[in-house]
Amino acid sequence: DPRLEAISAAIRVVPNFPKKGIMFQDITTLLLDHKAFKHTIDIFVDRYKDMQISVVAGVEARGFMFGPSIALAIGAKFVPLRKPGKLPGKVISESYELEYGHDRLEMHVDAVQSRERVIIIDDLVATGGTLSAAISLMESEGAEVVECACVIGLPEVKGQHKLKGKPLYVLVEPS
Ligand code: IMP
Repeated sequence: DPRLEAISAAIRVVPNFPKKGIMFQDITTLLLDHKAFKHTIDIFVDRYKDMQISVVAGVEARGFMFGPSIALAIGAKFVPLRKPGKLPGKVISESYELEYGHDRLEMHVDAVQSRERVIIIDDLVATGGTLSAAISLMESEGAEVVECACVIGLPEVKGQHKLKGKPLYVLVEPS
């Protein structure tokens, strides 16, 4: 798909951010490139439009930049999965491991219904820890995670193995 090259080219790599040794994949430059941004949304929409998806769940914060456009186009609702303490209603919470320590994702309990078909979206998968927490949130409400979708997949970390057996769809890998 020639669109993938334009998407790859629009992602900026920033060395040593947020700390030394990390090659940060910056999707804000993708958002600045109308064509590449549209290709990104179009590819996800084409893939999910006929899969009876009723929920697109986005991971804070960069999942919020792609998820709503996809949700509108496929006729699904958008559910934000947020960092702790941000959601005002009753929440369920799932913690996950970071390189150093833990973090948590939260979701409003009334955001999804049992047996709804969900895709979870984020900008990037590395270890898969974040997506696994998102999957657990959905499953604890009885929803069915059909697939996890990311713009960027880091190849060396094999996130697939951590995604509780759920399929992972990524558009590009860093060169
Ligand atoms: P994981 O939980 O190890 O798979 O890490 C994925 C999470 O870390 C996602 O929410 C990403 O937004 C974030 N992340 C890790 N590395 C990068 C990066 O290079 N660019 C943007 N986000 C990153």
